[in-house]
Formats: sequence, structure tokens, C-alpha cells
Amino acid sequence: MQKKDYYEILGLQKGASEAEIKSAFRKLAKKYHPDINKETGSEEKFKEISEAYSVLSDPEKKANYDRFGHEGANFGGGAGFSGFQGGFGDIDLDDILGDLFNFGFGRSNRRNSSKRPMPGEDVLVSMKLTFEEAVFGCKKELSLTLDETCKKCSGLGGHEKEDCPKCNGRGRVISEQRTIFGVFQSETTCPNCHGDGYIFKTKCNACKGLGHVKENKDILVNVPSGVNTGSRLKISGKGPAGQNGGENGDIYIEFKVASHPLFERNENDIYLTIPLTITEAVLGTKKEIPTIYGNVYLDIKPGTNTNDKYRLKGKGVEVKGNKGDMYVIANVIIPSKLTKKQKEIFNDLNNTELDNDSVFKEFNKYL
Ligand SMILES: [Zn+2]
Ligand SMILES: [Zn+2]
Repeated sequence: MQKKDYYEILGLQKGASEAEIKSAFRKLAKKYHPDINKETGSEEKFKEISEAYSVLSDPEKKANYDRFGHEGANFGGGAGFSGFQGGFGDIDLDDILGDLFNFGFGRSNRRNSSKRPMPGEDVLVSMKLTFEEAVFGCKKELSLTLDETCKKCSGLGGHEKEDCPKCNGRGRVISEQRTIFGVFQSETTCPNCHGDGYIFKTKCNACKGLGHVKENKDILVNVPSGVNTGSRLKISGKGPAGQNGGENGDIYIEFKVASHPLFERNENDIYLTIPLTITEAVLGTKKEIPTIYGNVYLDIKPGTNTNDKYRLKGKGVEVKGNKGDMYVIANVIIPSKLTKKQKEIFNDLNNTELDNDSVFKEFNKYL
């Protein structure tokens, strides 16, 4: 396949100046850098422009390319130096980008960034609570398996630290290419220590060199009163360990609260439906009812109907010092089975003008 002209790739004319080459590359690299451009083909394009730039930005390579074309830039093909044909192998792209973008652009690819402190990830876990645990708060143990800093190597991944013998602790190496055009030197990240400048004589076998190990952790969680399904609690700094001395992540706990057989909760208010006998509803009564704070006596007014509501102020859920209310809803149960005597009583009742209520009067108008 015919290789594209390097000037053409960068959108330049032959003989473009050093500044023009740099500027053209900078623009295109920003556009096609795989960290930024996620479109398919952008990586290929980025390799292409990087290759063109690495040749045209090097005065000697550029001179060879101008004279001999691609063969010249690749230092005479057959000599065993394949230039870019193998991909990124022979140049350190991060170097080019590092020079161009001093403030971290393209750094995510930088191999020597692997030792920067990185905070641990945050984790989200769910916790089941009973109705009462959620209302009043509780202490609950949470068992998790988390990445912890390896204690054997203090998170370093190895023992017996020493200067990298390949780069003498510099983290960079100079490689020379002898070609028919002369000796070419380039400085790259040291492949032995990946730019750290040091290596470990022995790999930590507790963490297999990773610097962190999985550990089972029991965390006592102080669940505050008033949480509800969907509420989240953040436990700072108790999550997975960071890397290279980075801080631990956070744990977020999301609650799932079980329903109660009697009480229903809406925000901080509690709803309770109570059954009333027909006489309790008609004559009224002092009725013992449960609340989340214990039993109380509620005055049922004479003539209470189904769905009549009683409000008990402050008997709801307390959240951060604010107490919700409790609503008691009447449910009058009409007996379906009556004794003979009860039937007689109801028949007697029927003859006592029970229908003088205004509701009945309104209804009877239409008969
Ligand atoms: Zn090294
Ligand atoms: Zn270790």
C-alpha cells in the first residue's frame, strides 16, 4: 500500500516551517487524541499524524524524508528498523504530547503516571432495615470485601527498593539507532522501571505486586433515626484503599426499609387504620391504639364514619429533631352476622327516624 505523504497528513505544503509543523500537529492531535475523540478510526488517524509529526519535527529525519521519501524516514527499511510500521513501538508518543501540552493533556497514557496517588473507588451497598430500625435508628454491622493496602509492602508492591540499573534512576533512557544515515538518538521512558527510576528486588508475594489485597471488613454503621427506603448514608474514607498512597474511597449505604403490618409511613407521617365496631362509631369511645411510641387512648367522637381522620400531633417519625404526625383513620365494621336479639334491636332502631340526617333528606328529594 502506498504510504500517504507526511506533509499531506498534517495538511501542509512541502517545505513548511518548524512552527507550522508543530502548530498543525498540535491542532490535529487535540482533535484526534483517543482520550478525546471516541469515534472509530480516530486512533488510526492519531497514529498517522503522530508518525508524520515524529519525522517532520526531527530535523535529520525530515531532511532524509525530504530527500528519499518514506524509505529515507525509515532509515532504509531493510536494515531492520521498521520505523512506524509496527505501531507506536519505536517512539514515545507521550514524549511528543508531553512537550506540546505541558499541563497534562495526553497524560492518561503516560506510563510514569502509574505511581501518582490515586484515590480508591467509591462503593454503593444496600442495607435492609426493619420498620422500627429505620424509624428509631440503630447500629448495624456491614460486612464487605474491599481492597485494602497491602500491609506486607505498605502498598508498594515489592521489597528491597533500588535504583533502576537500566536508567540509573533517571526513569528515561537514550536509545541509539545506527543507520546508513548516521546515528540517531532519542530519549524514551525506561522500559525496565516504566519511568519510576526504581525497581524492587523482590515482588511482594502477599499482594502479587499489586500493592493491595482483598480483605473482609466489618463496619459498624450508625444508622440515624428517620431514614427511609432510598435514603443514602455516606461513610467517608472507609471504602477501598487508594493506590500509591491515595486516600480511601467512600462507602454509600442505600437503605431498604421493610413495611410494617399496621403502620404505613409517608415521609415523616405515620398512618394507621383502626377497626371500630358499629356501637363505638355511633356512640363514641375512648379507644386504646398503638403508636410507634407505645399505646395511647384516643377519643373517638360519637358519629364517627369510615375514613374519618384523627391527627395525633408529633406521633410521627422524628428526623433531625422534627417530628412528623400520626393519622388515625376509622374503619367502621358493619356486622354481617347478627343474633336474633341483635336483629330485633336494629329493627327497633329503624323506627326511630335514623334518616333525619341532611344527607338522607337531600337523597330522598329525588325519589
Ligand atoms: Zn529504569
Ligand atoms: Zn504487598
